[in-house]
Amino acid sequence: MEKIFSALVVREQEAGKFTRSLEQVKMEDLPDGEVLIKVHYSSLNYKDGLSAVGNKGVTRNYPHTPGIDAAGTVAYSSVPEFSKGEEVIVTGFDLGMNTNGGYGEYIRVPSAWVIPLPKGLTLKESMIFGTAGLTAGLCTEALIAHGITPSKGPVLVSGGSGGVGSLSVAILSKLGYEVIAVTGKKKAHEILKSLGVGKIISREEAVDSSGKPLLRPIYAGAIDTVGGSILTTAMKSLKYGGSIACCGLVSSPKIDLTVFPFILKGNNLLGIDSVECEIQKRIDVWNKLAGPWKPDQLSKITETCNLDQLSDKIQQILKGELMGRTVVSLY
Ligand code: NDP
Repeated sequence: MEKIFSALVVREQEAGKFTRSLEQVKMEDLPDGEVLIKVHYSSLNYKDGLSAVGNKGVTRNYPHTPGIDAAGTVAYSSVPEFSKGEEVIVTGFDLGMNTNGGYGEYIRVPSAWVIPLPKGLTLKESMIFGTAGLTAGLCTEALIAHGITPSKGPVLVSGGSGGVGSLSVAILSKLGYEVIAVTGKKKAHEILKSLGVGKIISREEAVDSSGKPLLRPIYAGAIDTVGGSILTTAMKSLKYGGSIACCGLVSSPKIDLTVFPFILKGNNLLGIDSVECEIQKRIDVWNKLAGPWKPDQLSKITETCNLDQLSDKIQQILKGELMGRTVVSLY
C-alpha cells in the first residue's frame, strides 16, 4: 500500500489568509480510525467551499483536506463489519470538517461513519448524490411524513439549480409532485424543465416585501436550501397543513416570521440535518435513492473534475455559479 498519497491541502499562511494546493501527504498523518478507505470519488458541496477558504465555522484547524463526501473501497479494516475491497460510502459526521476528507486519495474514519454502497448505485452515482442527495432525500422523507403527497398541491424548491436543489427537484418530479423551482440563473431553465419542473420563478419573484404575516396560499410544501427572505415568503405562502423542509442558508440564516402560519394554518417548519443524522435513517434514505427515488437524469446534472481542477470549481460554488452536482474523481 502507498505510504504517501495526493490530497488537496488548505493552509493558513497568516491569520485570515488561506492557500490551497495539491500535496503529497503521509498515510501516518491521517487520523486514527477503524476503516482506511481508498477514495475513488468525492463531491463538491457548498460546505466544502467554505472549508476550502478557511471558514472556521466549518473547519477550526488548518492545514486541512476538505471533502465531506467520499466513496471508495476498504483498504484496511480493524473491525469485522467491513472487509478489504468492499465498496463503501461516507458522508457527513466530521469528514472534511476537522477530519481529513474526500479530497485526498485515502481517508481513515470510525467504522460508525461508514455504510456499504447501496445496491443499485455505482460509486460514482453515490457521489452524484453525496451529502446533497442524502439531504434532498431527508427533506423529501420529512415532507412525506408530514402528509405532503402529490395530490396536496405544488412543492417549491429554492436554490433550484444547486446541488441539493436540483436533486430535490429530480426526486420530487420522479415521485409525481408538481414542482415549482426558484432559480437565479436563466441558463438553468432548460435543465430544470428537463428534470420535470412545472414552473420556474426568479429569486425576486420568490420574495414578498409587503410585510404581511400571511400571503395567498400556493404551496403544499417546500424544500428550502437558501433561508432568508425566500424562506420567509414561502412559509407565509403555504396552504393549510403545509410544511417546509429547511436545510440551507446560502441567502441568509435569518427569517422574519410571526406565529400565524403555525397557529392559524397548522404549518410546520421542519429542520433537516444530514451531518449527525442517525445511521439507520441514512441507510433507509440511501436505499430509496438507489431504488424507487433514483432520478433517471442523474448524468444530466453532473460535471466531473479531478483534484487539479477542483480549486476553480470551489471558487464557482462559493459565488453560486455552479449548476447541479460536481463529482471529484480521484481514481
Ligand atoms: P449549491 O451552491 O450547490 O446550491 C445553492 C444554490 O442556491 C445556488 O446554486 C443558487 O441556485 C442558490 N443561491 C446562491 N446564492 C443565493 C442567494 N444569495 N440567494 C438565493 N439563492 C441563492 O449548494 P448546496 O446545494 O451544496 O447547499 C445548499 C445549502 O444547503 C447550503 O446552505 C448548505 O450549507 C446547505 N446544506 C445543508 C445540509 C444539511 O444537512 N442541513 C446538507 C447539505 C447542504 P439558483 O441560482 O438556482 O438560485
